[in-house]
Amino acid sequence: MDRSVTPVWEKNLFLGAWQLGEGEQVAVTEPATGEVISHLMTATPADVDRAATFAQATQQQWMNVPFDQKAEILRKAAALLKERAEEINGWNTRECGSIAPKAAFELQSTYEQAQMAAALPMQANGKIFPSTTPGKRNYWTRVPLGTVGVIAPWNFPILLAMRSVFPALAMGNCVILKPDLKSAICGGALMAQILEDAGLPAGVFHVLPGGPEVGEALVEHPLVKMISFTGSTAVGRKIGETCGRMLKKVALELGGNNAQIVLGDADLDIASSCGAWGSFLHQGQICMQTGRHLVHQDVAHEYIERLAARARNLVCGDPHQEQVHLGPLINDTQARRVEDLINRSLEMGARLVAGGKRNGSFFEATVIADVTPDMPVFAEEVFGPVAPVMVFNSDADACSLVNQSPYGLAAAIHSGSTERALKIAGQLKVGMIHINDQTVNNEFQVPFGGMGSSGNSGRFGGPANIEEFTTSQWVSVMAEGIQYPF
Ligand code: NAD
Repeated sequence: MDRSVTPVWEKNLFLGAWQLGEGEQVAVTEPATGEVISHLMTATPADVDRAATFAQATQQQWMNVPFDQKAEILRKAAALLKERAEEINGWNTRECGSIAPKAAFELQSTYEQAQMAAALPMQANGKIFPSTTPGKRNYWTRVPLGTVGVIAPWNFPILLAMRSVFPALAMGNCVILKPDLKSAICGGALMAQILEDAGLPAGVFHVLPGGPEVGEALVEHPLVKMISFTGSTAVGRKIGETCGRMLKKVALELGGNNAQIVLGDADLDIASSCGAWGSFLHQGQICMQTGRHLVHQDVAHEYIERLAARARNLVCGDPHQEQVHLGPLINDTQARRVEDLINRSLEMGARLVAGGKRNGSFFEATVIADVTPDMPVFAEEVFGPVAPVMVFNSDADACSLVNQSPYGLAAAIHSGSTERALKIAGQLKVGMIHINDQTVNNEFQVPFGGMGSSGNSGRFGGPANIEEFTTSQWVSVMAEGIQYPF
């Protein structure tokens, strides 16, 4: 990270191009140390209006840029992500507390999203339907929505923003991105620089760092025709209500409380490894985190021992200074919330098997046994490095426990029998199920998304992106004009 010059975002906002910001300058604090590592300008609701007006004026021009030129810009952006890996990963580590492999994985996944998006504009984008009227042709094509508002969270701030930004741009839309203030440099400012340097015309992309008031202004702006939101279920519901009232398209990718089922015939070495990865990766701050370990009573003791042994081996520390498995949580408040959920569950009879200690914003990898469905660590999305284990007696019990949660994002099933696992998968009300693997899976070419309180059935990735970021238009053509009865 070059700290010898003042970064452009300390005074400027990216409103189609870098401009002096008129909002508030806020400190960017490193969660591991509490050190102020930069400053950035926040946007205001008036900036949302400026961005939306500029985007509206630019969108037709951008839509008409030939597909190969759009693809070229997106490929250049992909290349710049790789070229600037050290800088981007450095900010991801210091700004968000990401360990190096998580930052590298996020960057690689974002690169894949850019490459995938570059291939979208060259797809055939319509169908021709027959007509009941002789001499008539029905063309049905996908057309851009106009301006798309993207609201992203802080946990995977680059990937979760750009998985919407790249395909929305590819399909001919302008985009206004509102990153979370806790991750607005790596998940906003650096991406603005990349798209600007890749040759995206001014006005097509805007980045407005800010809190809920900026998000609300974006959702409510009449010139913003779609909102793609990734974040909590509570905020998602509110955004969904506003979009419903305004008849605005909305994609909501929300929270999760994902289960890993371990059947009596599972390979416990593999299952406990998957369980540890699914619960502790990025300190558990992942929507697909394994939040509930459901283990058959015959193997529960051994599974808990193996999982606890893995947890005890994990080192917690400052990922900028040393090689660690777990960095800090995003802030002290979040770490205190995790502590509170654990303490309340222990008071209700749960048993602490490993970890359990907080040190400022750091939290040990924690395993809790004797968990029941009414305990907060089981019922709520913890978003911290906690693995609650609950025992079941039959496959039917396991399915009913999974489906008890209002969330339905991801699940994992471990069994020696693929057929048995597939039968269980067919009964789960969950958007993504991984057999003999863990819950945190994301591949750019496969549509991603949840059921129930985890979203409104929007899907990201692969072929889903074309439908998600466009609407359709029917144009019919009569070879010769037609006479009606009057
Ligand atoms: P959050 O909902 O508090 O914030 C997400 C974004 O919404 C931020 O940019 C925030 O500033 C903005 N925001 C907050 N209030 C708003 C409002 N009233 N109007 C408009 N925008 C508003 O979520 P968070 O705490 O940052 O992220 C964690 C949550 O996100 C967890 O529940 C997690 O499961 C979920 N998540 C889901 C996915 C997924 O793909 N399903 C991925 C990552 C995170």
